[in-house]
Amino acid sequence: MNTSDFDIPNPLGIHALVWIGDTSAASVETAITQTAAAGYDILEFSLHDSVNLDIAGTKALLREHGLATACSRGLARDADVSSEDPAVVARGQQLLQESLRVTAGIGGTVLTGALYSAFGKAPGPLTKTGRDNVIGVLRELATEAHPLGVTLGLEVCNRYETNVVNTARDALALADDIGADNVMIHVDTYHMNIEEADLVSPVLELGDRLGYVHIGENHRGYLGSGHLDFPAFFDALARIDYRGPVTFESFSSAVLAPGLSNDLAIWRNLWSDGSDLATKAHQFIAQGLTAARQP
Ligand code: MN
Repeated sequence: MNTSDFDIPNPLGIHALVWIGDTSAASVETAITQTAAAGYDILEFSLHDSVNLDIAGTKALLREHGLATACSRGLARDADVSSEDPAVVARGQQLLQESLRVTAGIGGTVLTGALYSAFGKAPGPLTKTGRDNVIGVLRELATEAHPLGVTLGLEVCNRYETNVVNTARDALALADDIGADNVMIHVDTYHMNIEEADLVSPVLELGDRLGYVHIGENHRGYLGSGHLDFPAFFDALARIDYRGPVTFESFSSAVLAPGLSNDLAIWRNLWSDGSDLATKAHQFIAQGLTAARQP
């Protein structure tokens, strides 16, 4: 079933890592056709490995299959805008500018993720200088993104992946300090499970500043096979009348991306059939959002 068969206001997305681990033309075609076949509206690409991405061809194929797109990424230790080292910050800014170019090039209107730091366990807490660097770079990036029609997301990630933004409240404070209209907050139930008191209060606190959602189980496998309270989360989204994208994110050692899979500690095989996983996730999310909208 397609999302339009359900009475919900949200476009539903899926992360490309359910299908493919690289961005060759053949892989991109697989991801696009499978995403459309599984009933989704949005295909999210990670830009960790986008050097091979055919920008014009990808944009055309997305359009042909009626799909929207979003892009996400984290930075790297030697290219990290939360560093105190100006050369490392500058390389991080270059990566972000290149990612913005790719996002707009394939027709995306959202660039999100850990745009503010490297992925991976930080060696120590965020410093004042590091945070100021994040603010300066993301403020400039937001200015560059505005004429391209791109909104930047601050994905709230757990402590083992970043030291910049671990809770929705951290992200709100950072967004306030960046001070740009096209910067929104992105929550992910996988990370919320580690860092937040529950899956509800952060959503209510974010309200209309929530702009993107990742749905992942506590182990990042099949939805419903873990312990997350998705009915409560979907109910919170309905209570704030959230109408933005809701994107399924799942990883398994069955599909590995050079770099990203190691950054995210994907060591286990939680599923092997991406198509079965994706179809069931679409149904799970659409039914959950529908139930939450019932009076
Ligand atoms: Mn995520």
